[in-house]
Amino acid sequence: MKLSRLGEFGLIERVRRRTVQGRGVNLGIGDDAAWVQTRSGSCLLTTDLLIEGVHFDLKWISLYALGHKTLAVNMSDIAAMGGKPAYLLLSLGIPSTFESEDVEKYYRGIRSLALKSGVALVGGDTSVAKSLFISACLIGHAPYRPITRGGAQVGDDIYVTGTLGDSALALKLLRGKSLQFRKPAARFLLSRHHFPTARLRVGATLARNKLARAMIDVSDGLLQDLGHICRASRIGAILVEEKLPLSAAYRSLAGHEGTGYALSGGEDYELLFCARRRDRSEIEKLEKGVGVPITRIGTCVPSRDGITVLDSKGRSLSFRGTGHDHFRGPVRTP
Ligand code: ADP
Ligand code: MG
Repeated sequence: MKLSRLGEFGLIERVRRRTVQGRGVNLGIGDDAAWVQTRSGSCLLTTDLLIEGVHFDLKWISLYALGHKTLAVNMSDIAAMGGKPAYLLLSLGIPSTFESEDVEKYYRGIRSLALKSGVALVGGDTSVAKSLFISACLIGHAPYRPITRGGAQVGDDIYVTGTLGDSALALKLLRGKSLQFRKPAARFLLSRHHFPTARLRVGATLARNKLARAMIDVSDGLLQDLGHICRASRIGAILVEEKLPLSAAYRSLAGHEGTGYALSGGEDYELLFCARRRDRSEIEKLEKGVGVPITRIGTCVPSRDGITVLDSKGRSLSFRGTGHDHFRGPVRTP
């Protein structure tokens, strides 16, 4: 079958079904990170690719920011399990036209975030390539039981950290060669696109206090990543459009896009999680403690109801796309 029909997630599901779970594998393919048991404890493993022309364009991102982002997006997957990042393996395919100073700039970006986050670069691989190709593998500790995508139940609340859509809107402005970047609002969006924040503290606190029953980081668009929680937990979801957390910058520049990028844009790297209704006050307390907005945006419902977004009049919204699939492009709803 053509991959454009099967899609990225169809392909991963085929690989998963044919994979034999090895010894010590608590959680294999299908979550934000794998969770394995070693003799000395348990750890989390995640990997991400960043390919020039697919994930980034060097016209729009500096090598320093790209280094920073490489580590941040991997840390986000560890955050989504409630873990603590520790060791990084970094493999680069580099065009021979690059200067060594370019590579040094990239590593400065990696180092700046690694130092702040207690991550050690411990190895990798290097090759020549036609365009810049980055493969990072991050290993983390799991001091608390990791939070999977699969534990949400009907009646649970749905929350998201931070604000949504900033990164995707920045990309749209960049692609449109917008002159808006002189405005502070556009610069804010751009910083969210170039320097995403992995919500490590929120993730770990939720895991420590056993507050989140299911969690994922929003990397491919809210609706698509919520879809992963719904499939893994066998539930549906109702979201309230008005509750979606939007930054002031997003509100001022989104125009006719409305909440489109907040629902379906990628690269937010915020945490989306489900928690029991009775834990509402605990989550409010946690929000104050961690200093990151945590917004209740919906409710888990039976799986037969699918995913619905309600507008301010209580009507169900039809959306053009739900997120990104590497082989299908933007995912369209039927
Ligand atoms: P995320 O967006 O959180 O990085 P992905 O959607 O990329 O997660 O991947 C979903 C799951 O599929 C993860 O557990 C990942 O490790 C696994 N996965 C992705 N691609 C492959 C592959 N080529 N072979 C095996 N597992 C894969
Ligand atoms: Mg993820």
